[in-house]
Amino acid sequence: MAKIFCIANQKGGVGKTTTAVNLAAGLAGHGQRVLLVDLDPQGNATMGSGVEKADLDSSVYQVLIGMASVKECVKRCESSAYDVLPANRNLAGAEIELVDFDERESRLKDALSLVTKDYDFVLIDCPPALSLLTLNGLCAANGVIVPMQCEYFALEGLSDLVNTIKQVHANLNPDLVIIGLLRVMFDARMTLQQQVSEQLLEHFGDKVFKTIIPRNVRLAEAPSYGLSGVAFDKASRGAKAYLDFGAEMIERIKHM
Ligand code: ADP
Ligand code: MG
Repeated sequence: MAKIFCIANQKGGVGKTTTAVNLAAGLAGHGQRVLLVDLDPQGNATMGSGVEKADLDSSVYQVLIGMASVKECVKRCESSAYDVLPANRNLAGAEIELVDFDERESRLKDALSLVTKDYDFVLIDCPPALSLLTLNGLCAANGVIVPMQCEYFALEGLSDLVNTIKQVHANLNPDLVIIGLLRVMFDARMTLQQQVSEQLLEHFGDKVFKTIIPRNVRLAEAPSYGLSGVAFDKASRGAKAYLDFGAEMIERIKHM
């Protein structure tokens, strides 16, 4: 049975999608069966997996409103050997349409329950908001991976997310835990980043992943080729870090 993880942080541009795509590729590189769910109407994880978002007959939007099954919508990312449940701008409408549905927070959870036997990992790339879409991700998940940059305000933004996760844990999904904080776009030459990193370790201890993702231009270039950073340049520091992170996640789920 797959373990399901949300990649969440309500801030935009913090490396959620880069982490979702490259962790999917990293896990697949270690022989894991992975489904990547794009839950952001921007469809960046879809495009970054080499799936054209404009050409989709059906997507995660149809799944959420009950018009299609996950299996009917899944595409294959051949270059990195994982499956994608794609998204495009249609998904923005789901936010409003779902308001009239019963149990609107657990639509994704119910849909995924039919395919968890086919995968080792399901990764959900969340939009940059604590919206109904993100809530669907959090309800479906066993855990949350929080990518963050080691900046001065990083800890401040974290408290909103932690509160939301606590509420979801109490009311909707008792399984939900923060698996860990992932330091991304890290630049070891910056004293401030070193300091914030040390603060994170002090406050959160082993909730901080051991793997650190460096700032690496190859990771930023890869999506324009429809490739993960791992497929684009396997020898790059960014690709190696996400392969290491994949190995760390495989180790973590042994204790879940
Ligand atoms: P989010 O999904 O949280 O909005 P993205 O993953 O799209 O964030 O990342 C925001 C920007 O930062 C993108 O242009 C991406 O290519 C770039 N980026 C993300 N991680 C790295 C990294 N480790 N090194 C260099 N650039 C990165
Ligand atoms: Mg994103």
